[in-house]
Amino acid sequence: MTSMMCKWGLALLLAGSAVFWVMEPPGSQDLAVGTWIAVIDSPDGMSVEVPLDVSADGQGYSGVMRVPERGDIPVEDLALRGGQLTFAWRPGVRLSCTLDRREDASYAGTCADALGNSGRIQMLPPGITPPTAPTADIGPLAPGDVMLGENEYVEFTVGALPLILSSPHGGALKPDSIPDRTRGYGVGDSDTQELTRLIASALQEVTGRGPHVVISRLHRSKLDPNRAVDEAANGNPDSEGAWREYHGFIESARQAVEDTWGRGLYLDIHGHGHRTPWVELGYGLMSSDLNGDSDLDPMSFTMRALADATSTPIAELVRGPASLGALLEQRGYRSVPSPGDPGPGSADYFNGGYSSVRHGSLQAGSIDSIQVEHPKRGVREPESDRQAYARVFAEVLVEYLEQHYGFELVER
Ligand SMILES: [Zn+2]
Repeated sequence: MTSMMCKWGLALLLAGSAVFWVMEPPGSQDLAVGTWIAVIDSPDGMSVEVPLDVSADGQGYSGVMRVPERGDIPVEDLALRGGQLTFAWRPGVRLSCTLDRREDASYAGTCADALGNSGRIQMLPPGITPPTAPTADIGPLAPGDVMLGENEYVEFTVGALPLILSSPHGGALKPDSIPDRTRGYGVGDSDTQELTRLIASALQEVTGRGPHVVISRLHRSKLDPNRAVDEAANGNPDSEGAWREYHGFIESARQAVEDTWGRGLYLDIHGHGHRTPWVELGYGLMSSDLNGDSDLDPMSFTMRALADATSTPIAELVRGPASLGALLEQRGYRSVPSPGDPGPGSADYFNGGYSSVRHGSLQAGSIDSIQVEHPKRGVREPESDRQAYARVFAEVLVEYLEQHYGFELVER
């Protein structure tokens, strides 16, 4: 994708530091305390996401617009009245912004400079960031075409199936131009990029069509796309650009799947180093929930679209006889949750991360998601086992998509 440079964008890099105040007491209005994300689209098409910390005391709210690597930008004349938020700020030129509150508690509106150039601004409330990355235009591309992002850090293969795979932690590139991340975990998931490619190839063999595939080619010490941008990129502009492309490609793939199939499945492919050598399927559900007998929490479930569409209880979807865990278990790959291992017990377990929450149907949309964590021995290595697993996993996915979504992907 193109590099993101423009008048407003360059101006962002020249900012100073400040704090802003809202003179309305907390509680009388709905400006949530915490880190907001301001998504700013400039007149010439550039999009930036800037964290905005909002806090409150007895006098009112205060906040800091945190521009990565450059510090904080003052926000002036901020007022919140009747659901309308207004303020001005100077990332370079002075911009006046007016935003209206929306039903989902975000704000959206425009910012304009003195010359009348205006761009969109959206403020996303604290919590999970809804899909906002700029989507890549995949209109003219055909299934099988490959798009590379800036510096070839991110790779997107256009698919034809109602299935999206991503590989966030299998990258090998360690460019000197990007310093190692100092915040967040930097050890990659070995062989997971290779595994993701093998699963895609096996799906092509089984169905004659491929999935959409998004791969981060940067090593995790440089970028962790399965985190919010701050921890993901540690403020490095090149890593942030790759992060935006990575999630933008997934957005594009989701849109393509929705347009073609109406609904579908997104799988984030990982490798774990936990003691129990099972496949860990993360649906957003906590270990403690899975271990108990009580109803599983739909508010954290990353497959809400499927649950709503089929009225199937969540417990049956995640560990019933037709669950992904059951299908893998039947093929000899121990999995959790599954009929045999309904919960992780006291064992370590990954229940899903940033990407599966952001791009699944937890909040909205019709694309469900699962974070799939693979053990090393017998699955990721040696290579012969990796190939065998990829083939089985592809066959299991075809069966799963047919049983739960009604997609007939193989001619009979
Ligand atoms: Zn991982």
